[in-house]
Amino acid sequence: MTKWVYSFEHGKAEGDAMMTALLGGKGAHLAEMSSLDLAVPPGFTITTGVCDFFYANGKQLPPDLDGQVEAALERLKAVTGRTFGDAQKPLLVSVRSGSRASMPGMMDTVLNLGLNDVTVESMAAETGDKRFAYDCYRRFIQMYGDVVMGVDHELFEEIIDNAKADAGHDQDTGLDADDWLSVIARYKALIREELDEDFPQDPRLQLAGAIKAVFASWMNQRAIVFRSINNIPKDWGTAVNVQAMVFGNRGEQSATGVCFSRNPSTGKRGLYGEFLVNAQGEDVVAGIRTPQDLTEEARLATGSDRASLEKLMPDAFEELERNVAVLERHYRDMQDVEFTIEDGKVWLLQTRSGKRTAKAALRIAVDMAEEGVISRSEAVCAVEPATLDQLLHPTISEGAERDVIAQGLPASPGAATGEIVFNPDEAEKIAAQDRPVILVRVETSPEDIHGMNAAQGILTQRGGMTSHAAVVARGMGKPCVSGAGMLKVDYKNNTMTSNGRVFHKGDVVTLDGGKGQVLSGNVEMEQPELSGAFGTIMEWADEVRRMRVRTNADTPKEARAAHSFGAEGIGLCRTEHMFFEEDRITPMREMIIADTEAERREALAKLLPMQRADFVELFEIMAGMPVTIRLIDPPLHEFLPHEDSDVEAVAKGMGIDPDKLKMRATALREFNPMLGHRGCRLLISHPEIAEMQARAIFEAAIEAGKRTGNQVIPEVMVPLVSLKRELDHVKATIDRIAVDVENETGVKLNYQVGTMIELPRAAIRAGEIAEVSEFFSFGTNDLTQTTFGISRDDATQFVPTYEAQGVVDRDPFISLDLEGVGDLMRIAAERGRETREELKLGICGEHGGDPISIHFCESIELDYVSCSPFRVPIARLAAAQAAVRHRAGKTS
Ligand code: ADP
Ligand code: MG
Ligand code: MG
Repeated sequence: MTKWVYSFEHGKAEGDAMMTALLGGKGAHLAEMSSLDLAVPPGFTITTGVCDFFYANGKQLPPDLDGQVEAALERLKAVTGRTFGDAQKPLLVSVRSGSRASMPGMMDTVLNLGLNDVTVESMAAETGDKRFAYDCYRRFIQMYGDVVMGVDHELFEEIIDNAKADAGHDQDTGLDADDWLSVIARYKALIREELDEDFPQDPRLQLAGAIKAVFASWMNQRAIVFRSINNIPKDWGTAVNVQAMVFGNRGEQSATGVCFSRNPSTGKRGLYGEFLVNAQGEDVVAGIRTPQDLTEEARLATGSDRASLEKLMPDAFEELERNVAVLERHYRDMQDVEFTIEDGKVWLLQTRSGKRTAKAALRIAVDMAEEGVISRSEAVCAVEPATLDQLLHPTISEGAERDVIAQGLPASPGAATGEIVFNPDEAEKIAAQDRPVILVRVETSPEDIHGMNAAQGILTQRGGMTSHAAVVARGMGKPCVSGAGMLKVDYKNNTMTSNGRVFHKGDVVTLDGGKGQVLSGNVEMEQPELSGAFGTIMEWADEVRRMRVRTNADTPKEARAAHSFGAEGIGLCRTEHMFFEEDRITPMREMIIADTEAERREALAKLLPMQRADFVELFEIMAGMPVTIRLIDPPLHEFLPHEDSDVEAVAKGMGIDPDKLKMRATALREFNPMLGHRGCRLLISHPEIAEMQARAIFEAAIEAGKRTGNQVIPEVMVPLVSLKRELDHVKATIDRIAVDVENETGVKLNYQVGTMIELPRAAIRAGEIAEVSEFFSFGTNDLTQTTFGISRDDATQFVPTYEAQGVVDRDPFISLDLEGVGDLMRIAAERGRETREELKLGICGEHGGDPISIHFCESIELDYVSCSPFRVPIARLAAAQAAVRHRAGKTS
């Protein structure tokens, strides 16, 4: 026989907090609270298994459920001394939904079930309060009529409004017993009229109807939508809780409310919440009456003239405080509690972990560890790493007015305000006058970098979460809204239009990169706070972390930002980004269009000192910490102009024939540049590029070492290797230059040569490649592209559909595909380490800052992760959590 029903009563319960899958969150925690000896009205939970049965059997309940429910009702009779359906001493119950994940207000609940024309009179006689009894009855008819029988609740509200008008009151509480009696009569008539059937008087029929209705509410429209937004599987199902009623609407010493054990927006210790005197259930959240503050402190802060619970019912307030403290200590987390006070006695009706802001999460974790409630490593695990993003950037003040012009993707968090500018050169010019700008583009390309760098924020009409604009903005730590499709950007007229509103160059807008919103005008902001609880959690995270956290940084500015966020070196410096800067792009282009090797070398000689100076600065900032420098990776055509007008201008600037430039650009054009002449392929056909870069690295290492007194051990990284012999080839060039530099300077160099693992063949042949490679860095952006055969830049055309249709769980460019790409990484790590025990392993793709991917990296024991500067704190925290959970997994 399947057990469908689990009872709970004061001091003991058949279920417990671990059973949320079977009993739902509400049921499991009602059971747990009962076992803790807290005051919880007794009851029983009908399992999610019944929900499965219900949907598998044409919405029928299991035949043996009735017997189990009867047995549970017998138990309730024993503990309450009341009998369900009894005319003299009736037991009233609530029938409450409750799924595994919290879905507040999404499903249905019915209160005061068991009342009918007879029991309501017993209730009136027993309590000596007719008004109260009739109020309960009319509430029940209203909820049951709406939830179970499907009569529009507006129609019930109308009747109350009429009754209030008749009685000359504007509050429900102003109605007396007779008023409610006539409301009850009108309610019944309404149901008869609407459905041509009577409101059921038999409590057992009422109960069966309510149980079915709660199971049915699992599939109501708002629950379906909520699940899809929150990724809650449909097959989890809901449980049903049947629980003895307590009454918060029993008079002036009764109340109902909700409270957090700590302030959910600031984290401050102490009860925080709202209540209503003489009210029941949903009254508090329904917004019909304005709730009152729980504490005096909150009342003073809000300036309310209505008494706090602390003042109004000091004993009940203290009892509530004590109970909530017990819950918090027991669950070792901030709790969100629903309670009712009946005639001065406090009853707990629900508890769960409270939702909170990132700021509050940090403070709560630190405080609870310092209070000795949780350990430091529990505190580290209590903060969701991704939420730190909210704290590292200025954000729009809570409550600030938002005039939303357009909605796009939240591509890079933070808020920024500035004049809109449609051209990167102009952005640079205006920013140079200390005027903040927002760069607005249809989409961005590497040629826009200087404008992006000058802007406070970036807005694009097209492109996804991994578009050029998004990736670069995240790297720069600038707010970015991408793919704002409703926006029409018109370069010719320097305008953008959205919903018929036209904005001109110079108009001020604000971006909310965390929400993907474009707002009109200047909006009030708050600055980030990196000390305090944030600093403490980071410190504790570093104590338990095993993997190192480096950063992907191409510029001194990025390196400095990352260093201040605690980066322990550079995992990826993309040298090509340095070639896009204004004074460098010309010699770079000269190098590309050179006809002879001699000409090429001449152009490279101009680049050498600039590149060397960049490296010196990076080495100095990192002061002895490891720095991985990747040799040039992209195909050369990326450095040449494409538009005819640009070609003319560039050729003129270089003093060469435009046709020659155009021909070279055409010759370099590839069908599929991503799979073309790039990475080590380029370094093999143009060894002089590798020579120049290696020389710049080594000379810079020596100079920075001299300046700071910290020896620099550069890691020279060769991109896009698939064959061991490719690496042999490039390494030979690097080693030769090292010897040259040593001979010229008389200084002995200490350096490593390694490769990115970003092609499936390299992962599979890692054993062999490790014979030459002293480190591997997983370039998971390319490895994802090449494993799936999906171009990252085109992925936005269909990956969102894949996610929506459940073909993939997560965008593989954001969160590692653990089974496919992850397996290749695991293979490469194993085979590489078999060849070379001390092989250093890291990851430098965008995934290096993604918490789920970081957990995976811990599981294959990488030495470090590397991510964009603003994700460094996230990675530090995620790596710490991965270490804690990994160790726990190993010992259990
Ligand atoms: P939701 O999931 O929408 O919060 P609940 O099942 O928690 O729905 O019920 C909403 C409210 O109804 C509770 O917060 C509580 O105030 C009231 N309620 C539920 N069961 C009882 C009960 N047995 N006695 C008194 N009030 C109850
Ligand atoms: Mg609730
Ligand atoms: Mg790559």
